[in-house]
Amino acid sequence: MLQIHFALQIHHEHLNLPLLHPFTLGNGSSRNHTAITLLTLKDHAGNVAYGEAAMPPYLSETHETASHFLQKVMVNKLLEFGEAVELQHYLNQIDQDNTATKAAIDMAWHSLKAQQENCSLSELMGSVLLNPKASTFTIGIAKPQLIEQKLSEGLAFGFQRIKAKLGGNNDKEMIDTIRQHCSLPLFVDVNQGWKDKEAALDMIYYLQEKQVLFVEQPFAKTDFRAQDWLVQRSPLPIFADEACQSIQDLETLKNLYHGVNVKLMKCGGLHTALELQTKAKQYGLQTMIGCMTETSCATFAACSIAPLFDFVDLDGPWILANQPFERPVINNGIIEISNLDKK
Ligand code: MG
Repeated sequence: MLQIHFALQIHHEHLNLPLLHPFTLGNGSSRNHTAITLLTLKDHAGNVAYGEAAMPPYLSETHETASHFLQKVMVNKLLEFGEAVELQHYLNQIDQDNTATKAAIDMAWHSLKAQQENCSLSELMGSVLLNPKASTFTIGIAKPQLIEQKLSEGLAFGFQRIKAKLGGNNDKEMIDTIRQHCSLPLFVDVNQGWKDKEAALDMIYYLQEKQVLFVEQPFAKTDFRAQDWLVQRSPLPIFADEACQSIQDLETLKNLYHGVNVKLMKCGGLHTALELQTKAKQYGLQTMIGCMTETSCATFAACSIAPLFDFVDLDGPWILANQPFERPVINNGIIEISNLDKK
């Protein structure tokens, strides 16, 4: 395995990127901007690799915590690691939290390694020969006019699968409006927004009538009792998102859900995402690779392992109004990104 030699330069900058539309979720949050920390690694040969920490409020990371964590990272330590697991151990020794900042380091490290080994990131991650899958495009909670606008934008981008955010006070209106205009595969994400298990089950039967394919994170992530009740009755598969960040979480919830949404920002990067994917499969769980509102940088990293997952939800660059990188191309609903190009 190639070792990284000579000094590395590391640089980071904090950005607040505007969203295309206000993004409203079933947990009651609504945002116009998203906080990103962009990391750059440069080696002695002139290879430049980027990493990104995208920090949604529920993960409790901020520009300040990212700076604080990065100050503790000894850059020349990164030179010592031949394997990603060594990097992960080092980062976890610094701090158990800060998963998005760890993900930024992990993806930049992998990207630099691919350049040094003169291969693509997908080749490095071992997914290059697998068939990629179409990504969903997410529509946040909104009124019908904005739902229609977001849907038409998503279709114009080239997406062929839709994910609707539910958990507000207009769940049926969200679904009915989307179904009036398209019959594409449809998924829903409640973001912990449902409180009543009987009402949740009624809604899931309604969603089944509307050809919805699965439901993500219906209840608060700690409400194991309601989730256990629902998973035994639901006619649709239920995926964990907020409830599943680590291998330990997976152990806890393996019998409470049918699948898990794995995100680089939640678990700390590509290495742990692959561990989660492998473990989830061993438990017979379906797998999805998802994203935060994040740039093409994180999408580039996630796409390098996306073919290993059953479902792909990597629409971050299309939720942002502006970002430092070019948006990937979408072909037949599939995100195509073999290089990360800065604007
Ligand atoms: Mg989700």
